[in-house]
Amino acid sequence: MLWCLQDSDLKNLLLAFAKHYNVYAPIDVSIPVADGKHVKRTIFSKVKSGLDLRNLNLETLPEIPVKHLFYPPVEVLFSIKKSKNVELVEEMPSIEKTLIFGLRKCDLNAIKRQDLLFSTHNDVWYLHRRELTTLIGIHCFEPLNSYCFCNSQELEDFGDLMLYELSNATKHWFFKAAEQLCKENESFANSNFNDLKINLKSKLYIVEICSEKGFELLSNFKKFFVKKHVSKMLGLNVSDLELLEVVKRLTPKTRVLKHSKAINALTPSDWASVSEQCLSCGICTCTCPTCYCFEIFDKEVKTLKGFETLRLRTWSSCQLQEFTRIANDFVFRSEKWERFKHRVMHQNIYFKQRYGKQLCTGCARCIVNCPVHIDWVGFINKKNLQGLGE
Ligand code: SF4
Ligand code: SF4
Repeated sequence: MLWCLQDSDLKNLLLAFAKHYNVYAPIDVSIPVADGKHVKRTIFSKVKSGLDLRNLNLETLPEIPVKHLFYPPVEVLFSIKKSKNVELVEEMPSIEKTLIFGLRKCDLNAIKRQDLLFSTHNDVWYLHRRELTTLIGIHCFEPLNSYCFCNSQELEDFGDLMLYELSNATKHWFFKAAEQLCKENESFANSNFNDLKINLKSKLYIVEICSEKGFELLSNFKKFFVKKHVSKMLGLNVSDLELLEVVKRLTPKTRVLKHSKAINALTPSDWASVSEQCLSCGICTCTCPTCYCFEIFDKEVKTLKGFETLRLRTWSSCQLQEFTRIANDFVFRSEKWERFKHRVMHQNIYFKQRYGKQLCTGCARCIVNCPVHIDWVGFINKKNLQGLGE
C-alpha cells in the first residue's frame, strides 16, 4: 500500500497548507510589458486564495527558480548605528514557515547544492530560512522542454515529500516498471503488461515520504491522503514499494551533456565562438537555481534618530565586467568569452573539484531564458562529436 492524493483534493490541500505556511506553487501569472501589453509567465507564486490556484500549472518548469526565498537579491547583513557611540547591530530577518510545492528534481537538487555551499560557510540567514521550509517535489516522466539535460548531472533523490502522477497519461511508466521488476525478481509472476486494458477514472498522485519533515506534514494533513494498493489497481502482481523504486529510476529521456573531457579541451577561440552573441546581461545567472555570486557594500541611510550605515549583500553575476573589477581598476576577466567560460567551467568543473558534485543541475533555464538563446550544451556536445578531448 502507498500513500496517495487524489488530484481532486490537491487544491484543497494547498489551501489547507496556506493556513499554516507561506505556500508557493507554479502558477501562470500575467505580467505587464511595454505598450499596455501583458505576457503569461509561469512562476513560483504565493498561494493566498483559491483564485490563485485557478492557474496552477504543473506542466511547465517555472521560469524563475526559488533561490530568492532562501537567498534574497538584497539582504542587510548588519547595520552600524551612530549616536553617542557607534553600535553594530546584526540584522536577523523575521522568517515565517514556508512550503514550496511542485519542485522538479533539478530544482530540488539545486537547493541541495546551495545547502552544501551555504552550510560550508555557515550562512545563518540562509540556513535559518531553509530550516523553516518544507519542499514538495513532483516527478518528471517527460522532459519539460527540449533543452533539459538533467540526466547527465548526477541528480539525487531530495526533498520532504515527492509526488508521482498516476493517470491514463502516465500509467505506461508503471507497467514498464513492473515488467522490469518481474525480469529482476522471479517471485513476481505477471503475464500482463498491457496498460491499454486498464482505464483509470481519475488522476492521483502517489506520495513518497522522503524526510521527517515530510512525515510530519503528511501526519498533520492526513485527512487529504489515502492508502491504496497501487499494483492491484493496475492489475499487477508486484510489491507496491518495489514498483515505486523502479518508477523512480525511469528518468525522463532528456539530452545529455557530454561532459568534462570536451569542456576542458575547448580553446579560447571555441569559447569566443560560443559566446559571440552574448550580451553580458547576466539573465543566465539570475535565473539559474544554483548561481550565487554576490557583492557586499555599505550604504548610509537617514533615519529618525540620525544616520546609520547598512552592510548589504546583493546578487551579482560573473557575466558582468564590473564583477571582476578589483583594486587599481584591474579587470581580471575583461573579455566576454573569459566570463562565459568561467560560468560554464564553474558550473560543471570547478565546483565539483571543490565540493564533489557539479553545481549545474541541467534545468536549462540559462539557455531558455537567454535573450539570444546560446545553447552551450549543444555546442559542447558538437565539439565532443568532433572528437575534442578524446
Ligand atoms: S543570458 Fe545569454 S546573453 Fe545574457 S549574459 Fe547570459 S549567455 Fe550572455
Ligand atoms: S547552469 Fe544553466 S542548466 Fe545549469 S543549473 Fe544553472 S540555469 Fe540550469
